[in-house]
Formats: sequence, structure tokens, C-alpha cells
Amino acid sequence: MVFVCACVFGFVPVTSAEFVTQYRIPADPGLRQLHDEFVRTRLLEDVAAGLNAELKLPRKVTLMLDECGVANALYDPDTSRIVLCYELFADLARRIGQIEEAETLIGGAFSFILLHELGHALIDQLDLPVTGREEDAADQLATVALIDADEGGVDAVAGAAVWFASLATDGEIDTLEFADEHGLNAQRFYNLLCWVYGADPAANADVVGEDGLPESRAGQCPAEYARLSASWERPLGPHAARP
Ligand SMILES: [Zn+2]
Repeated sequence: MVFVCACVFGFVPVTSAEFVTQYRIPADPGLRQLHDEFVRTRLLEDVAAGLNAELKLPRKVTLMLDECGVANALYDPDTSRIVLCYELFADLARRIGQIEEAETLIGGAFSFILLHELGHALIDQLDLPVTGREEDAADQLATVALIDADEGGVDAVAGAAVWFASLATDGEIDTLEFADEHGLNAQRFYNLLCWVYGADPAANADVVGEDGLPESRAGQCPAEYARLSASWERPLGPHAARP
């Protein structure tokens, strides 16, 4: 079979849509080591390869590490870029670096954040219906993807839960916090505990109890997780890379 380039007919040639990676070299020397470490460990490349093995999207999505000036992560629908800021990783290390198993927790939280932004990318690219808060749907996708991925998934979600706990406001809450498109950090913390427990109540029973998930919420978590998991799997099925 002879391949004829469609470009001779004036069409835009179709390139294969896939996840690709990009690194900006930070101007801040304090972040340069972080950049070098990411490049060396090829973490983003591994994530991109994993996503390419699972999903086929209509447009290319770039996973980018950038110097942002703030600790942040975002999905930009105009450029189809998931931007992860070096400063965010540095902030994670500062917040939870002293806790036992810090390396696992920080890596897990960072993976969760990346997959949360993937949730926004999927909602945009696949024009998925969202009838609740999109931020909650993105947290749910990140949780389902990590728990389904491998045995370390629960630890990764735990890392994100610890991160939310570190961000949660102690004491009186400023009224303006309720105006944010995200749930309160304490709510996101309890949601993650609920979904981890709901995914496998026997294996993850230790998240229920004092300082953890209250019994009053735990009872409904298996049904809650089953519903949110199916809500993500169903629309993604037709976009699986392998039939
Ligand atoms: Zn978000």
C-alpha cells in the first residue's frame, strides 16, 4: 500500500495524538537541581508512556515541568498542556518532607496532582459531561487511576491526603474559602480516605477511626467508590489505546 501525503491536497497532515513531555530549564538556581533530577529519573516519560499505552486522545497533550513563580499545577485547554510547577514539588517537600516515608508520600502526592490535571484534560478533550464540581471529578479520576494502577496506588493517594491535611485551615475558616472552585482541603482529605476505604474496605480498614475517616461516612464509601469508578471507566472505554 502506498502512503500518499494528504498535505498535497491542502489538508493539514494528521499527526498521532499522544502524550509528550517538555521541561523548561528554570532560571532560579534553587530549582535547577530539581529539574536535573526530573530529567534524570525520566518520571514524566514513564507517565507519558503509561498513558499512551492506555489512552488515545483526539489531540496531543504535553506534560510539562515549568518554573511558574508559585507552587501550582494546571491544565491549559488552549495549549493542551498539563503544567506542573517545580515550585509545587519544592512546596510538597517542605510541607511533608519531615514525615515518615516522606519520599513515598511526596512522590504519591505529585502523581496524584498530575492525574488530577489529567482529569481536567480528559473532560476538556473528550467533552465529558460533569454534573457536579469538576474539581471533585478530577480528584476522583486521580484516585481511581492510582488505585487501579498498581499496589503502590493506595500509598500515592495517602500522599495526596497528607498534602491536603497540611493545607487544611485550622480553626475559623475565611468565608471566601467557600467561594473557591475546589472543595475545602479538609473535605478533599476525607474524600480521599473515603474512596481508598471504599475501593477495598478489608485491606484499607486502618483509615477508619480517630484522626481518620469517621464511621458515619465510612459505611457509604464502598458504594460511593463503585459509582465514581464506573463513572470514569464508562466514558473512557471507547478511548482505550487497546481494544
Ligand atoms: Zn483542578
